[in-house]
Amino acid sequence: MREFLRRCPACGRRFTVRLQSKKLVDTEEHTERITHDIVILARGGRDSRVIPAGATFEDVPIEVEKFDVTFECKSCHHKWTESVTKVEKG
Ligand SMILES: [Zn+2]
Repeated sequence: MREFLRRCPACGRRFTVRLQSKKLVDTEEHTERITHDIVILARGGRDSRVIPAGATFEDVPIEVEKFDVTFECKSCHHKWTESVTKVEKG
């Protein structure tokens, strides 16, 4: 079990809370579009210049995982659940 230094919502103490459980509730597959600019370098002696030539797109897959995480305060034994979203880039 991992422990976190967090503030308890019941007693308000900044206390080490225990992670009781972590449950994967949902996984979503998404894509994130990245734009790459294309340029052409025109070499002409002193007149070298860069000509914009549009753009290409790349779709990068990402995975979004949603967890319900349950914590317990070691001071007052209050338990609560937080929703945590984790994004994995593939
Ligand atoms: Zn507490």
